[in-house]
Amino acid sequence: MLVTGPRGTKDILPEASGNWQYIEQVIRDICRLYLYKEIRTPVFEHTELFLRGIGETTDIVEKEMYTFTDRGERSLTLRPENTAAVVRSYLENKLYADTLLNKLFYIGPMFRYDRPQAGRYRQFHQFGVEALGSKGPAIDAEIIMLAVQLLRKLGLDDLTLYLNSVGCPQCRPIYREKLQDFLREKTSHLCSDCQSRFERNPMRVLDCKKEKCTEETQGAPHIVDCLCDECSTHFNHLKSLLTLAEVDFKLNPRLVRGLDYYTKTAFEIQYAPLGAQSAVCGGGRYDGLVAECGGQPTPGIGFAIGIERILLALEKQKLLPVFSNTIDVFVAPMGIDMQGIAFKLLCNLRENGITAEMDFMEKGIKWQMKQANKYSAKFVAIIGEEEAAQDKIMLKNMLTGVQELINIDEVQQKIELDVEA
Ligand code: ATP
Ligand code: MG
Repeated sequence: MLVTGPRGTKDILPEASGNWQYIEQVIRDICRLYLYKEIRTPVFEHTELFLRGIGETTDIVEKEMYTFTDRGERSLTLRPENTAAVVRSYLENKLYADTLLNKLFYIGPMFRYDRPQAGRYRQFHQFGVEALGSKGPAIDAEIIMLAVQLLRKLGLDDLTLYLNSVGCPQCRPIYREKLQDFLREKTSHLCSDCQSRFERNPMRVLDCKKEKCTEETQGAPHIVDCLCDECSTHFNHLKSLLTLAEVDFKLNPRLVRGLDYYTKTAFEIQYAPLGAQSAVCGGGRYDGLVAECGGQPTPGIGFAIGIERILLALEKQKLLPVFSNTIDVFVAPMGIDMQGIAFKLLCNLRENGITAEMDFMEKGIKWQMKQANKYSAKFVAIIGEEEAAQDKIMLKNMLTGVQELINIDEVQQKIELDVEA
């Protein structure tokens, strides 16, 4: 019996990997423009890091982590997201000693025990950025612009940027109480998850996707009405910067996180046609996270974009580029005896940067010509016994149909001339 891949995982097959390389290239180009540098951390970390860095009352930690004990009895977890790991690495490697502001990005696989469906997998990929060191709203605006510019560059429209502020440890407790007062009589109508959230993390009730909970929380107080002066100034300043940059946004009071180390700015970018998996980008400020991970208090902000969801959106809008698989030369030996000469020519061409292929299946010339057409080869270099005896080959221009008997050491020059023309 065949062993299949684990549920919720996907192979990126040869015909799709070009799309991934394309997106990754656009990401790298944008990060270069914005001066974000790549950081690559391991795919597993001590479980403890995620308990602290994501929060024990979140869905991720409660239900979605791939946690295992290794042979040395350590509890390890496949990273479900990467902010905590970037902060860990930032502290462990003292990146703060080099510069006041660290601007970092990553691309890589994340692992969550989610319910697999279109746009939701157990191994998926995120592109994320983290800026560590600045507390002002300008960096929030820059980070949001980076996400917006990336999505625009890929050609996506129909995107909505949602914005909220979740306050800080000064003002949030007041809001939390207000919200609990509002929810108290409604708890029995909420889903069981939300009933337990009511005490532990009431702001997350606002985030619940269940219809009944959304209904019951209509009319809930908004956190932006409870912000302290500092948070409110920060939020207003951010909004004015985004307006200056001509970025549209919608305020969404339901965008919450509700853990102490998430502060001020929260944002999400949605691509509505993806339905239940419409969130393509989620981000926000986490001024308390570095201290939570054992460092000196350091402000930070970041986002993560789901690459599979971007790909789905690009497919839907027919925005994926068409890749050419054409080659310059197909080398066709007429018979096994000519293989050595063919192989030598092939190596030579490739060493000189000419895309070339030859027959490895030891087939006849008819089949080889078909192969050459499949590759849309510009030339076929036919190596026959008589010609080879005089160090010559027959070079066929596949576009014009013209065949020429030329010296084997002229092939490269001939092709280069034509490819340039
Ligand atoms: P959702 O509400 O869809 O579960 P989330 O709030 O769990 O999203 P974040 O933790 O903010 O998502 O992650 C950032 C982005 O990563 C999401 O906006 C989404 O594009 C992507 N993402 C999250 N979980 C998955 C998954 N299981 N499969 C594919 N992409 C995912
Ligand atoms: Mg999720």
